[in-house]
Amino acid sequence: MKYYYDLHMHSALSPCGDNDMTPNNMINMAVLKGLDIIAVSDHNSCRNAAAVMEAGQKAGIIVVPGIEVESAEEVHILTLFPDIGSAEKMEKRIAEKMPPVRNREEIFGEQLILDSDDNETGRIETLLISASALSSEEIFEEAYDAGGIAVPAHVDRDSYSMISNLGAVPEDLDVRLIELSSECDRNLFFDNYPGLAEYPVLRNSDAHYLWDISERINYISTERQITDAGSLIRLLRGPAADYTLGSDA
Ligand SMILES: [Zn+2]
Ligand SMILES: [Zn+2]
Repeated sequence: MKYYYDLHMHSALSPCGDNDMTPNNMINMAVLKGLDIIAVSDHNSCRNAAAVMEAGQKAGIIVVPGIEVESAEEVHILTLFPDIGSAEKMEKRIAEKMPPVRNREEIFGEQLILDSDDNETGRIETLLISASALSSEEIFEEAYDAGGIAVPAHVDRDSYSMISNLGAVPEDLDVRLIELSSECDRNLFFDNYPGLAEYPVLRNSDAHYLWDISERINYISTERQITDAGSLIRLLRGPAADYTLGSDA
């Protein structure tokens, strides 16, 4: 069976995420686009994930709780979890390693905590778009220890990526799949980095605005049943032979 996905997007919690990226707006857009699975992956926090999961449940959209973690080397790593408890465990570790810099809303934007009815219930005061003190290696370890998976985010980009900041995807990391940004020319990329062609590739929107959420293009094809975040993450943690990542475009 094919499941259409978009596993990287930012809610209004990310200062750079549009304030219209509320739980219900994100889910309604996913329904309109015909997606089956989305992940909410705010910068260094999962505070809105439970609300998006709740909204998703009502609409029949599987929502994966995630966090886009920024490492000490300023590398973005997409971490995805089987349930909210695991994501919160990761968030706690990150929060301990964030610099004590307050968000300046007039410069960076608001960091809104929303409930599943899109009501604001608070704001995060520590700036979320800072590098944590966790190394890429530590982020991978923590994510897998929490039951999740870690994916080098938008490796093709010339900033905040493993290739731009570390020069390569380090071979000693437990990398099981990689993410290419939606604007990346896949064939050109693998001409330049043939060593990465062995990895399954996620194509996500990294949407910060509703209209940027993926069309029904990118899918995971598997004989297994994906019924919730847990079954997806177990599949992605397992052998790559059990699934195929593809695109209709
Ligand atoms: Zn990023
Ligand atoms: Zn992102």
